[in-house]
This record gives sequence, C-alpha cells and structure tokens, in this order.
Amino acid sequence: MNLTYSKEDEEFRKEVRSWLKKNLPKKDKTLSDLPPHDPERVKRAKEWQRKLYEAGYVAMGWPKEYGGQGASVVRQTIVNEEMVLARAPGLIGAMGIQMLGPTLIQFGTEEQKRRYLPKILTAEEIWCQGYSEPGAGSDLASLRTRAELVGDEFIVNGQKVWTSNAQFADWMFCLVRTDPDAPKHRGISYLLIDMKTPGITVRPLIQMTGDAGFNEVFFEDVRVPRANLVGELNQGWLVANNTLFHERNLLGSTTRTQLMMQNLLRLARSRQRYGKPASEDPVIRQKLADLLIRVEAMKYHSYRQLTDAIAGRPPGIAAMVNKLVGTELNHDICSLALELLGSYAPLNRGTPHVVDHGNWAYEFMFTLGLIIGGGTSQIQKNIISERGLGMPKSA
Ligand SMILES: Cc1cc2nc3c(=O)[nH]c(=O)nc-3n(C[C@H](O)[C@H](O)[C@H](O)COP(=O)(O)OP(=O)(O)OC[C@H]3O[C@@H](n4cnc5c(N)ncnc54)[C@H](O)[C@@H]3O)c2cc1C
Repeated sequence: MNLTYSKEDEEFRKEVRSWLKKNLPKKDKTLSDLPPHDPERVKRAKEWQRKLYEAGYVAMGWPKEYGGQGASVVRQTIVNEEMVLARAPGLIGAMGIQMLGPTLIQFGTEEQKRRYLPKILTAEEIWCQGYSEPGAGSDLASLRTRAELVGDEFIVNGQKVWTSNAQFADWMFCLVRTDPDAPKHRGISYLLIDMKTPGITVRPLIQMTGDAGFNEVFFEDVRVPRANLVGELNQGWLVANNTLFHERNLLGSTTRTQLMMQNLLRLARSRQRYGKPASEDPVIRQKLADLLIRVEAMKYHSYRQLTDAIAGRPPGIAAMVNKLVGTELNHDICSLALELLGSYAPLNRGTPHVVDHGNWAYEFMFTLGLIIGGGTSQIQKNIISERGLGMPKSA
C-alpha cells in the first residue's frame, strides 16, 4: 500500500482546492433551515452537481464515451478529499453515480449506457432504488412485486417501501419477480422504471427526523418496455448484488465520516465545560481521541481499498467492513456531539438558540437510519464472518 501521492497528483489537488474556493455555493441560512427534500434545495443541489460535473470532477473514472474521463481512481479520491476539507455539499445524484452507474457500466447494453449514464452525471435525471418491500428487507430475495412479460412490455404490480428520494426521483432501478415458480433468487429481474409512468403512486413516509426522506411506492399495471431490463431475464439477483456492493461503499464513505469528525472537533472547541473549552476537558478529550483513532483506522482501511481499486481488484468484503464501521462511527460521532450540546441538543432547526442549525440532533437520527439502510449491521456482520472469515453460516 502506497500512502503518498505523486507530484502530478499533488498539482491536481491544488487545482481542485482553488476551484472549490472560487465556486463553493454561498452558505444560505434560509436554505439550510429547509428540509433536504424541499424543492428549492433539490434545485440548488442539482445546480451544484452540474457545476462540479462541468468542472470535470464527477465520476472521473467513467469511460469517456459515457461522460466520464477515464481518469485514475486516485484523481477522484483527491476530489472527494478536497470536497470534505472545503465542507462542500454532497451530490444529490449519488445513488445514480455510485450505485446504478457502475452497475450499468458492467451489465447494461450499449444503448442503456448511452441513454442513461450522461444524464446521471449532469443531475438531469435523479434515480431512486426500489429494492425493499413490506415483506422483503434483510431477506431481500423474498420480494413479491410482480412483473409479467406481455409482448414487448413488462406489466408491474406491487409495492416498494423505504424508497429514498422517490418523491423527486425521475427514475427507479427496481427489483421485480418475473418467475414466481423459480427458487426465490432465480426468478428476479432488474428493471429501469420511469417514475412518470401511469400507475405509479408515491406516498412520503415521515421519519423521526421529521423529514419525509423515504416513501412507499405503489405499482398498478405499470407498463415498462422490455428494453429497460438490465442483465438477463430472471438473473436480476446477480445485477442487484453488484449495486449493493457499490451502495455499501457509498454508505460507509470515509469522506463523510472525516467531515463529521472535523465538525465535532470544531464543536468541542467552541462549547464550554467547567469554564474551559470542552476540547480541554480530560474526559471529553479521551472520547474524542477514541473516535479520532477509529476515523484514522477507517481512513487506512479505505487506502487499502484504494490500492485494490488501482490494481483493478473488486471491492469484495472490504465494502461491507466500510459500511459496518462507517455508519456506526458516524452515529457515535453525533452521539458525542449531543453530549457536548447538553440541553441545547434537542433544539430543532429554526428554533432560537439552536446550534449548527440543529444538524447534530438531525444527523444523530439520520445516521441511525443508515445503520439499517443498505443492509443492517447484523447482516453485514453475518456476511463478513461467513464470506470474509470463513465462519459457519448463521442459523
Ligand atoms: C434511512 C433508510 C433509507 C433506506 N432507503 C432505501 C431505499 O432507497 N431503497 C430500498 O429499497 N430500501 C431502502 N431502505 C430499506 C433498507 O434496505 C431495509 O430497511 C433494510 O434492508 C432492513 O430491512 P427491514 O427494514 O425489512 O428489517 P428486517 O429485515 O425485518 O430486520 C429487522 C431486524 O432483524 C435483524 N435481522 C434480520 N435478519 C437477520 C439475520 N439473518 N441475522 C441477524 N439479524 C437479522 C435486522 O438486522 C434488524 O435488526 C432504507 C432504510 C433506511 C432505514
């Protein structure tokens, strides 16, 4: 594992840093007091992704013919690191960029790649993930949303649940049952569904954060062209798992965790405890040190993954370790922030005396959701122990 960047990469880093300094969206308090799914915030988030893309900083590793640059994974890592340091907003199209995009590059037809990939990058089309159902979460292969092939179209009927961003997504990558008689992993197909198709109803679900981050999605005789099938008919489980690998990498993002840790350190320096900054209190210092060590360990784990990616090795079990460690660490960072805030912790955004727009309480609740989404910690532990450590299957 090489822990240094080349001279050319360091030059590139300087370019990115100076671009971000000039182009970072101005902090807008009225906007940050709005829920993340407010139409105005969505619009601004799309504009930000477009700007980054036009500067050449989104999905740099994708092939040139689909809007990428065929750049090395190191360059994208540098951009991600600099975005964290600059406290830049994340990408609204992350599910398309980091989950569907790599899957389409591997399994999509040429036509699908040319049709969908460029618009993922520019944020012209936002994607959501239709996997979970009321009876299919951890046991995803039990899904029952039915798609019947009639001529050149699938007729889709059923229900998805916990579908993040469905209320403003343009498209959904969706798992459907195409052969109800086959063993459960073998009768599933992977479809791309236009969310404007007649027969689709989206009902937002309010989370404990107070936002409707996810939704129920109902399908009633929804017609989907056969051309929107990714991979082979009834072989969707293979395609779905590829997307899940990428999702676990996304959810366990080291950059997000580093940003949170920076914010926590800033908070610890600004809050008072026994007449001194909280960061000088020995008990708090111990807790900060513990978290910092975990963040550093995660960073080095991600360098190992980077080394694998440079060598062209698939992410494998490391993505699950990332998801497990990263999501739990984010939640623990927020937990210490709430301790530092004391009685200010429960104040919501928009309330007088609220600290950091109430982001800490919000993130505390939101990060709990990420421990569950994309496969719960228990499921990650099962997979790591079975496939990574060769332990016997759980009963
Ligand atoms: C914030 C958030 C966003 C989400 N976004 C999306 C989305 O965009 N698209 C989408 O399709 N889904 C989404 N989900 C759904 C998510 O993937 C599921 O919630 C998750 O897979 C767990 O399924 P479940 O909720 O049905 O829980 P269950 O599977 O019913 O699990 C309940 C509990 O049992 C435990 N458990 C279950 N099986 C085992 C086992 N074999 N061994 C040990 N423990 C077990 C679980 O760990 C959990 O604690 C999201 C969820 C959240 C919280």
